[in-house]
Amino acid sequence: MVKAVVGANWGDEGKGKITDMLAKQADIIVRFQGGANAGHTIVNDYGKFALHTLPSGVFYGHTTSVIGNGVALNIPVLFDEIKSITDRNVPMPKILVSNRAQIVMPYHILFDQYEEERLGGKSFGSTKSGIAPFYSDKYAKIGFQVSELFDEELLKEKVARVAEQKNVLLEHLYHKPLIQTQELLDTLHEYRDMVAPYVCDISLYLDRALKEGKTILLEGQLGTLKDPDHGIYPMVTSSSTLAAYGAIGAGIPPYEIRQVVTVCKAYSSAVGAGAFVSEIFGDEADELRRRGGDGGEFGATTGRPRRMGWFDCVASRYGCRLQGTTDVAFTVLDVLGYLDEIPVCVGYEIDGEVTKEFPVTAKLEKAKPVFKVLPGWKTDIRGIRSYDELPENCRGYIEFIEREIGYPVTMVSNGPERDDIIYRKSALAK
Ligand code: GDP
Repeated sequence: MVKAVVGANWGDEGKGKITDMLAKQADIIVRFQGGANAGHTIVNDYGKFALHTLPSGVFYGHTTSVIGNGVALNIPVLFDEIKSITDRNVPMPKILVSNRAQIVMPYHILFDQYEEERLGGKSFGSTKSGIAPFYSDKYAKIGFQVSELFDEELLKEKVARVAEQKNVLLEHLYHKPLIQTQELLDTLHEYRDMVAPYVCDISLYLDRALKEGKTILLEGQLGTLKDPDHGIYPMVTSSSTLAAYGAIGAGIPPYEIRQVVTVCKAYSSAVGAGAFVSEIFGDEADELRRRGGDGGEFGATTGRPRRMGWFDCVASRYGCRLQGTTDVAFTVLDVLGYLDEIPVCVGYEIDGEVTKEFPVTAKLEKAKPVFKVLPGWKTDIRGIRSYDELPENCRGYIEFIEREIGYPVTMVSNGPERDDIIYRKSALAK
């Protein structure tokens, strides 16, 4: 059976924690898209970790962690990350890398930086991890699959061919140093030797695992609103963030995905540019940012302060719908315990009309939030383990949002640790 853990919004919803928690009952955890450009923060018995490439199952001895074919694989970053956890006494995880995953090349990272420099103020707010140039090359069919590292003749020919094309841009558009083919080949040989022990035919491995009745967890990065098709294009990421893509990025049949756990945070945050209708500013935002997440809302990979906002029912209903949500995990609710009143965005006003449906980007840019203000609960809810023990106003907040988004909230997270979770029966659950 396959479960997916994905985000409803802009990312940073707390997927890492939920995956880490669900991984306890899983056999295999698969990253199916994205790269080292975003991260998950996980708190467990070994300490606090920021993971960028490794799946959030690496802390359990019984799980196998898989880098699927849909991932933008940065090989040195993967190995630095393995070292960073084993250095802190986490046992060496079982890791498998798809032979069809493609490799983030050193020049992808440089092109990302050069393009941001060239665009200046009009940039897309890239994290400069090479993700957009990587996926552009993948679909332009000049990417390098892991399997190709093991074919010397092919590698030499392809490096020369790709360098010829890239060097035209480096010389004439960016005015930067050119790619030296021998140097690049040497780097790729190092990559080959690093990754060799982990390479696997992952779709075949997962097919066998499914036949043996194993539980597989697909771990998404970012959220619906960063999806290149269904998100706030062009302020999106370069690979699909939807559970449906999990089938492709892992290499499994789509009908095997039986549960889609969509993670929604009890308020909003976003990094990078783009429309953010329920955004708040000034002291109000600073306070939420400071209290948010576990030690403040700052990017796990970049350290950038996140933009803050109130919960957005319009974006979250859309976000859940596109994921094909079976369960909502509602996270970071404990953080809101300081507020007397909590505004929730229930509609968008666009050109004088109020809508509850999430629009295309050009209209989204014009949208103004319609807020409904709910009463706060003014207590610390951390440590509570049963839904009925939550303060009435807190249950009221959850149930209001559940009705607005229309998907069952079956898990409520009230703290960053594995055990900070309340399971709940929802009337909306099928
Ligand atoms: P992800 O990318 O979706 O995994 O999200 P991040 O890990 O970047 O951000 C979530 C942050 O919230 C992390 O610092 C988590 O440790 C923290 N977190 C997750 N769930 C909770 C929760 O229920 N309460 C609190 N206070 N923090 C949480």
